[in-house]
Amino acid sequence: MLLGTHTVTMTTALPPTVAAHVPTGVLIDGSWRPARSGRTFEVADPATTEVLFDVADGGEQDALDALTAAHEAFPAWRATAPRVRSELLRAVFETLVARTEDIAAIVTAEGGKPLAESRAEVAYAAEYVRWYAEQAVRFDGLARRAPSGGNHQLVLRRPVGPALLITPWNFPIAMIARKVAPALAAGCPVVVKPAQLTPLTTAYVAEIIREELADRGLPTGVINVVPSSSARSVSGPLLADPRLRKLSFTGSTEVGRLLLKSAADGILRTSMELGGNAPFLVFEDADLDAAVIGAVQAKMRNAGQTCVAANRFLVHHAVAGEFADRLTAAFEQLVVGHGAEPGTTVGPLIEQPAVTHVETVVAEAVDAGAVVRTGGTRPARRGYFYAPTVLEGVTPDLRVVSEETFGPVAPIVPFGSEDEAVALANGSDFGLVAYAFTRDVGRVMRLAESVEAGMIGINRGMVSDATAPFGGLKQSGLGREGGELGIEEYLDPVYVAL
Ligand code: NAD
Repeated sequence: MLLGTHTVTMTTALPPTVAAHVPTGVLIDGSWRPARSGRTFEVADPATTEVLFDVADGGEQDALDALTAAHEAFPAWRATAPRVRSELLRAVFETLVARTEDIAAIVTAEGGKPLAESRAEVAYAAEYVRWYAEQAVRFDGLARRAPSGGNHQLVLRRPVGPALLITPWNFPIAMIARKVAPALAAGCPVVVKPAQLTPLTTAYVAEIIREELADRGLPTGVINVVPSSSARSVSGPLLADPRLRKLSFTGSTEVGRLLLKSAADGILRTSMELGGNAPFLVFEDADLDAAVIGAVQAKMRNAGQTCVAANRFLVHHAVAGEFADRLTAAFEQLVVGHGAEPGTTVGPLIEQPAVTHVETVVAEAVDAGAVVRTGGTRPARRGYFYAPTVLEGVTPDLRVVSEETFGPVAPIVPFGSEDEAVALANGSDFGLVAYAFTRDVGRVMRLAESVEAGMIGINRGMVSDATAPFGGLKQSGLGREGGELGIEEYLDPVYVAL
């Protein structure tokens, strides 16, 4: 294993015993090695700004080496018995669970989230691996007599082939697990391009998978990892190479759009998990205690840096004042700090531009007349922190409402009727998730039919579940991850007439 320079200090979450097992190279065909260029880039702790590791800076040639390894591993991997792939994934699941503390420490060190959230992310990621260990032996084809009666029809499911997986920084193990597990279950080798800001967790998990493959005598070229400070130098040559058969991307809509354009040249199969702008609807009949608990969950996980973060709080005017009071009180109970410090419930933002963005959209709102009920400032400590913030008197045209804020800011917009609430909820180019709090079952069904979102949480602030389809409508993406549908993204149906 290639271990790079690491300068872990007492202020970080990463114990030296864990740091010693984080690979820092590129992983090609079962071996970690430096980038061909010899270059590295730095990975820092966002809570302290200290550099944790120097990581190999993969480029075009490393990417092509990775694709060659994946391409060469494909025939053997697709021929592997589904049960063998299932047992591999089951073993990876067991190891992820057993090493939860170590992985959580890495997630917190590079991404900043509180340790309790990092542990929950490891558990959530492991569930994808367990689920696809189970699904690896359960995806069906079809056999039937043609309606004409003249012949039979078979539909086989074949792995699409080598897949490029590009992931964001905000869930460094869950986003990898959601892609790698179904890809491997389906029989597809992968090239992983982790986010530049959080490549350490990916490396650690890839090493677990590499070890399991090697121990079982399976082709180690089925998982390759190319961290890079220049994502395009990895994606560009691979998207232009006909050996690549699939792109699965999670990240911003802006980058997803660019990648879709490049993928169009090769008519490449794509899955796109993109940005969100989740409405959080609170009706006049809602249980406000539950709504506030749900609001804190939906808004404050990862300091608001989740694609499913509630971005707009649309609250019936009869309860808007009380909801604002209670949300303000709940936010004031939160403890901002280093994710590894006991008691911390809100960690830092990921980098300085993220803080600057939040400051800008809050200042714009205040200039337009919004009232800061709590927060609205940067705590006086090193690192990229921003205080949990509640804004009242906000109008839907402001950027803090109309764009994905990706920070700990809750703008409250009152509404007067259900129709108005739905119109406001749907007044966005995004459609990933929506949350609604109401006791009216008829209204629940009307919302389920009319709210433009791929996922809808009713009286709850969390919807993600490895066993259910995760994904968005409109500019939030294409395709689904998780559940029975997630493996479809890595399978081609082939019809045989006989
Ligand atoms: P990002 O789009 O900046 O980066 C995502 C990945 O794409 C990273 O690995 C990055 O290095 C790579 N990348 C960036 N530019 C590229 C280019 N030109 N060509 C190829 N690759 C490129 O997103 P981010 O800041 O890492 O993550 C935050 C965004 O991700 C938010 O918009 C969030 O909503 C979204 N997200 C969506 C989901 C989902 O499931 N829908 C989940 C998590 C995050």
